Amino acid sequence: MTLFENVRVLSFNPPSVSPATDVAVEDGKIAAIGQALAERYPQAEKVAGGGRFLSPGLVCSHTHLYSALARGMIVDIKPSKDFAQQLRNLWWRLDRAIDLPILESSALAGCADAVMSGVTSLVDHHASPEAIDGSLSVIRKAYEEIGLRGLLCYETTDRNGDEGSRAGVRENVRFAKETAADRAAGKAVLTEACIGGHAPFTLGDGDLAALADAVKTTGRGFHIHVAEDKYDAVDSRHRHGLDPIARLDKFGLLRPLSIIGHGVWLTESEVALMNERDAFLAHNARSNMNNAVGYNGLLTKHRNVVLGTDGMGADMLEEFKFAVFRHRESQGPWWPGEFLACMDRGNRLLERYFSIGAKSAEKPVFGKVETGAAADLVLWDYETPTPLVADNVAGHLAFGLSARSVNSVMVAGRFAVRDRSPCFDAERIGAKAREQAQRLWTRMGDRA
Ligand SMILES: [Zn+2]
Repeated sequence: MTLFENVRVLSFNPPSVSPATDVAVEDGKIAAIGQALAERYPQAEKVAGGGRFLSPGLVCSHTHLYSALARGMIVDIKPSKDFAQQLRNLWWRLDRAIDLPILESSALAGCADAVMSGVTSLVDHHASPEAIDGSLSVIRKAYEEIGLRGLLCYETTDRNGDEGSRAGVRENVRFAKETAADRAAGKAVLTEACIGGHAPFTLGDGDLAALADAVKTTGRGFHIHVAEDKYDAVDSRHRHGLDPIARLDKFGLLRPLSIIGHGVWLTESEVALMNERDAFLAHNARSNMNNAVGYNGLLTKHRNVVLGTDGMGADMLEEFKFAVFRHRESQGPWWPGEFLACMDRGNRLLERYFSIGAKSAEKPVFGKVETGAAADLVLWDYETPTPLVADNVAGHLAFGLSARSVNSVMVAGRFAVRDRSPCFDAERIGAKAREQAQRLWTRMGDRA
C-alpha cells in the first residue's frame, strides 16, 4: 500500500486542479483521498508529494511496438512515390524481418519508453509475419516486466498468402483465450485482447469473415487501419463496390469495441456509420504527417476520437502537441481542450475492454483520481511559471507540460518509475535492444 502525501490532483476529465491532499493506493486501486490519511493508513509506504501534481496516467490508443527498433535505422531503402510503395519498401520489410528475440527487445524498449513518458497504457497493433505464433504472449511478457497496461492484437493480412492470414486470426484467438482464461482464474491481468486486422486493402472477404467469427467467439473488439491513405478507400470501392467502413459493417466488425486507425480518407456517411456503431477513431497526427497521407478533415465529426502515436514512440504529451498544432494549421475549430478530451477518451476504450465479462460492481474505472479507480498515476515535477487551474489545464499540456516533468509513474498500484528512475533494468533492456536492432536492420537488408 502506498500513500502520496501533500499532492495536488490534476484531473483531465473534466479538467481540474485540487488543493493539497493525500491519496492512498491499495490493491491496485485508489483507496482514499483526503487530509492526513497517514493516521488511517499507518502501514502505508509514504511518498512525499511536496505539493507536486498527481494525475491519471496517459493512454496511447494506437501504436506498433514492433517499430521501436526502427529508430534511426541504417538500411538501404528505395525512395517511394506513394504510401503503398512506402509500405513495400519499408514497413513490410521491417515486419517480415522480426523474429521473436527481436520482438521481445522491441516490445521491452517500447514499453520502457512509454512509462518514462508518463504513459500507463498502450494499445498495440502487432505484425511479425515470419514469427506469428506466440508473438502476442511475448509482447504481454514485456508489458508485465515493465509494468504497463494495454490492449494487444495481431494485424491479420493476406499479403503473405492464405496460411499467413489464417495464422494471424489464430494468434488473435489464441491470445484472447489466454487472457480470458487468466481472468477467469482470478489473475490480475495488465493486458486485454483485441482481434486485429492490417487494413481493408490487404484483407479479402474470406479473411474478414474469419475475423468477424473471431470477434464473435472471443467477445473482443476489432482493431484495424482504415483509409490511412486514399488508396485503401479507392481499392475498397473499386474491388468491392463498398466504402471501406460499410464493408467492415457488412461483416459485423463495427461495434463499440472497434478501433479504427487513421480514417484520414473516410467520407461523411462513413463517419456517421462509425458514430452510429459507437466505434473509436484512433487519430495519429504525427504519423500522418510523416507518411504524407493528408489531414483528417472530418476529425471533428467523429463521436469517439482517441489519440495514438502509430509507433512513433509513445510520448503522448508530444503527440498531443502535434495533434493540436496540425489541427490549428488546418484552421480547424478545435482548441486544446477538445484534444485533451480525445486523449482522455483512451480510458473509455480501456474500460470497455477490461469490463468484458466483469460483473457491474467490478467494472473498472480508468483515467480518474477518485476512490475505486485504477491506480494508474503520474507524479509530475512541474514548476509552472503561470497559474495552473481548471480552465487552463489543456493549455498547459499544449504549451508547457512535457515528459521531462515525469517524476514517478504507477500502474495498477505498482511503481514503474520512481523519482525519475526506472524500476526495471533499463540498462540491460537498452543494451539488448541495440544488439537486436542491428540484427533487425541486417535481416531487413536480406528482405529487399
Ligand atoms: Zn498504425
